[in-house]
Amino acid sequence: MTNYMNTQTQLCAVIGNPVAHSLSPVMHNAAFSAAGVNYAYLAFAVHDLAGCMAGMRALKGFRGLSVTIPHKVNVMEYLDEVDVLAQKVGCVNTVINNDGRLIGAITDGLGTLRAFEQASVSLKDKTILFVGTGGAARAVAFAMTDTCSPRELRILGRTPSRMQTLVDDLTAGSNVPIRGGSLQDDLPQAVAASDIIIQATPIGMHGHAAGESAVPAGLFRPEHIVFDMVYRPMKTQFIKDAEAVGCVSILGLEMLLNQAILQFELWTEQSAPEEVMRNALVKALQA
Ligand code: NAP
Repeated sequence: MTNYMNTQTQLCAVIGNPVAHSLSPVMHNAAFSAAGVNYAYLAFAVHDLAGCMAGMRALKGFRGLSVTIPHKVNVMEYLDEVDVLAQKVGCVNTVINNDGRLIGAITDGLGTLRAFEQASVSLKDKTILFVGTGGAARAVAFAMTDTCSPRELRILGRTPSRMQTLVDDLTAGSNVPIRGGSLQDDLPQAVAASDIIIQATPIGMHGHAAGESAVPAGLFRPEHIVFDMVYRPMKTQFIKDAEAVGCVSILGLEMLLNQAILQFELWTEQSAPEEVMRNALVKALQA
C-alpha cells in the first residue's frame, strides 16, 4: 500500500544536527507505507531546539520525533514526561505527542535487547563486557541492568573519569555487579572472563579507523557472543574476526533496526512490519 497525504496525515521526524546521514526516514516511511497507516516521516536539521519543540506542541498532527545528536539530553527540558529508563540513562531518543502532551522515551537499549532476543541469545546470568563508555554503551547497559538479570557487567573505557561515571551510575541504579577497567590494560583478562562482548566505540567505522578492531582477533573464543554497535560497514573487522573463530555475532544494524521498530510501535500503536524495515535499511546501507 502506498502513502498518501491529506488533512489527517500524522507527521513524525528526526531532529538533530546534522541529519543528512540519517537512515530513519527510509526505514519509517517504508514501514508506514507497508502498514497502510497515514503517517509521513521527514528529517529536520535543528539549531533552535526551543522553537522546534514549541512548534511540535502547536501542530496537532505532529505525532512523533526521533531525537539525535546534539539534542538527546537538552530536549528533555521541553517534555511533559520522561519515562523511567530514559531518566536513568539521562537522555531521550523518542518523543510521542499524546494530544499535546509530549512524552520522552529511549529505545536504543530496549531495541538492542530485542535484537539479542531475535538472535535467541539470553543475557540472564551472563557476564557482559562493554568496550567503550559513551552514550550508546550507557543506553544499552541501563536497559540490561533494568530488565535482563545479567551476572555481571564489565565496563572498559579509554578515559578513566568517563568510565568511572558510568560504573557509578549503573551501580547506583541496580543490584547487578558492575566492574570497571582500563581499555588499555584490562582488555585480555576482561574478554577471557566474559560471555558476551559488546563493541561500543567508533573503531572500525567508515571514516574512523576503518578496518581496525578494538579487540585483537586472538582474544576471541568460539563460545563468545559478540555485538558491534557500528553498522557502517555492516560487517566490521571486529565481527569478521569473531566469526572467523566461530562466535555468534549480532550486527550494529540490528540495534538501529530494532530501536526504530520500537519507535514505530510507540507512534502508531501497531506492530511494525519488521522485514520491510530491515530490507529498507539494508538497501540503504548497501547503496
Ligand atoms: P560516544 O558517546 O562518542 O562514545 C564513544 C566511546 O568510544 C567513548 O567511550 C570513547 O572514549 C570511545 N572511543 C572513541 N574512539 C576511541 C578510540 N580510538 N579508542 C578507544 N576508545 C575510543 O559515541 P556513542 O554514541 O556511544 O556511539 C558509539 C558507537 O556506536 C559509534 O560508532 C556509533 O556510530 C555507534 N552507534 C550505533 C547505534 C546503532 O543503532 N547501531 C546507535 C548509537 C551509536 P572516550 O570517552 O575516551 O572519548
